[in-house]
Parts: sequence; C-alpha cells; structure tokens
Amino acid sequence: WMVGALKKETPQPRTFTRGIHTVTLIPGDGIGPEISDAVMEIFAAAKAPIQWEERNVTAIQGPGGKWMIPPDAKESMDRNKIGLKGPLKTPIAAGHPSMNLLLRKTFDLYANVRPCVSIEGYKTPYSDVNLVTIRENTEGEYSGIEHVIVDGVVQSIKLITEQASQRIAEYAFEYARNNQRASVTAVHKANIMRMSDGLFLRKCREAAEKHKDVKFAEMYLDTVCLNMVQDPTQFDVLVMPNLYGDILSDLCAGLIGGLGVTPSGNIGANGVAIFESVHGTAPDIAGKDMANPTALLLSAVMMLRHMGLHGHAKKIETACYDTIRDKKVLTKDLGGNSKCSEFTEAICQRV
Ligand code: NAD
Repeated sequence: WMVGALKKETPQPRTFTRGIHTVTLIPGDGIGPEISDAVMEIFAAAKAPIQWEERNVTAIQGPGGKWMIPPDAKESMDRNKIGLKGPLKTPIAAGHPSMNLLLRKTFDLYANVRPCVSIEGYKTPYSDVNLVTIRENTEGEYSGIEHVIVDGVVQSIKLITEQASQRIAEYAFEYARNNQRASVTAVHKANIMRMSDGLFLRKCREAAEKHKDVKFAEMYLDTVCLNMVQDPTQFDVLVMPNLYGDILSDLCAGLIGGLGVTPSGNIGANGVAIFESVHGTAPDIAGKDMANPTALLLSAVMMLRHMGLHGHAKKIETACYDTIRDKKVLTKDLGGNSKCSEFTEAICQRV
C-alpha cells in the first residue's frame, strides 16, 4: 500500500457547500454508539445538513487470511469520502490487528490533525493554548519493518521518504493558510538523524519557500517538549514525523484537558477524510450513559469545517463550549454529575 500511496499527489481539498451531504458514521465499540447518538442528536438540533450512513467496522479476513475492513464500510467510505468514527477496540497481543491502523492503510490517511484549543471554564494548567499538531501518519518508526539480526538483536527501520515528507509538509502549510494560522514549526531531530529527519526537514523548508505568506520555524523535538510545558502559547501549527507526532499530540491534548475533549482528523489521498475521537472504548462505563461525547462532537465540528460548513461548525462548537463554561450540566469526567444524555440535551438547547 505504501509504494502506491507515495505515487499519489497531494490532494486538493474538496468544497462542500449546498445541499445535504452523506457522511459514513462508524459508531465503534464500547461507548462509541452512545457518543455517536449524542452527536447525531446535536447535529439534528442544529439542522446541520448531514445525513449519516452507519457502518460497523469489525475485523474480517479476506482471501489468504488477510485482515480487512468489511466491504460495505469500504464501499460507503469510497462513495461518501468523509467519515466520522467512534473508538474501536483492539485485542492485545493476539487476534486481528488494530482496525484504526487498517482504516489508515486502506484509505491512505496520511495526515493526523489535532487542534488543541483551551476550553474556557475547564480548569487546566494553561488557559490559552491554541495550537494544531500535524503528524505524518504512514511511515517513520511505524512502517512496521522489523527483524531479528542475530539472537538478542532486533532492528526496527525508520522509513522516511521524500514523497511522504513533501506531502505532509505541503498539507501543513495549506492547512495553516485555510485555517488562518500564522506559522508552521517543523519538529525534528536532524542533528542526530541527519539523513532521515534531515530529509523531512529539507522538504519542510522547500514547502516553506513555496508558502511565504505563512511563517516558518524549525525546532528540535526535545526543545519543543521543554517549551511546550513552559509556554504552549508560543506554538501555532506543528508538523512532524509519525512517532514524534504520536507522542507530542497526546502531550498537547493533556494541556487542554485530555483525550475526552480533543478532536482529531485523519486526512487521506483522493479526498477521503475520517474524523475521530482519540480516546478508547471506555469499557468501564460503556452502556451506563456516563460517557462524555465532547471529543467526538468536536471531531464532527472539525469535519464540518473541512467540508466548508463553517456556520454550522461555529454554532455547534459554541453550544458545546458554552455548556462546559456554564458548569451546570457536565459529565463526571468533566467534574460534574450529569449523564451523557443530559449533557447532550443541554448542548441541543443551545444550538
Ligand atoms: P480508554 O480511553 O478507553 O479509557 C481510559 C479511561 O478514560 C477510562 O477510565 C475511561 O472510562 C475514560 N474515558 C475514555 N473516554 C471517555 C469518554 N469519552 N468519557 C468519559 N470517560 C472516558 O482507554 P483504554 O482503557 O486503554 O482502552 C480501551 C479500549 O479502547 C482498548 O480495546 C483499546 O484498544 C481501545 N482504544 C481505541 C482507540 C481508538 O479507537 N481511537 C484509542 C485508544 C484505545
């Protein structure tokens, strides 16, 4: 899949303006169906022009025992291009591989985008974080190339290619421009990994040359970590290879209150994009009407913005933020005593 992916050009964003748009909804496991219902209710109350096509994503084995996503889910995504996804459970050590990974590979979702914006009224160490992490999603240390050299010695390959680096660098600058963001910082360790991160950085510099309206900075990963916990307000858009992005994006989510309030989007080739909450299936509270739907709702808001439906995005986001700021109706993880359904209803009242 990767070699095929590398040949593709950076896709141009599609514009969605008029009419009703069909989106593939993958409710997922555990609390997934509850938080998906919450999002559908709020979207209906806000009269967002979206109709949902629900598809289950369970692991199935195709010819030769190859793991794949169900054909009806693939067909729906191929047709609709845009998806919203709840959490999916992954068995530990044995059984099918991560369905999240399989979705990423199936649709070549090369950019993981996570806006981290402080929520007013929700107490966190900083009150004015407003940054976006953009993570290369297909290669780096996660390319899955590992082998035993001799007994007791294992080698994992970090794969960095010109095409994938260029594609993510271009995406970061286009994202910055389309979202009125002033700067892009490339995060790297090119001082140590001179060839691999050196290539990544070179592609970021080349993209910066082409997008002079957006400021460009480069910073070592360790310096970013230090600066991030001391003063996250200095950052705007950050672009980085896969492993750094996996770690740094969770650190940034922690700055605004954790995975329960952090939205995420996976942008792919050929106009495909899947927006998802990044928390897990929360089996301890599943089916108890206790889940916080904020992360999935804000991911759905991100989806609306991606589709150019800015008015509906703003309306729903404001209703969600106002409900949290008001503090009267909050789920337990947000410090309240309310049910998921009550929190959902409070947001519906505001849209
Ligand atoms: P988890 O995120 O499901 O749960 C960790 C803790 O956070 C639990 O106490 C849970 O109740 C709480 N929590 C998570 N989301 C919440 C929400 N929306 N509202 C309120 N509380 C919430 O992490 P885990 O227990 O490590 O993983 C459980 C399962 O989820 C595993 O099968 C794992 O593979 C899967 N998982 C899926 C994704 C994904 O699909 N993106 C991400 C992480 C984990």
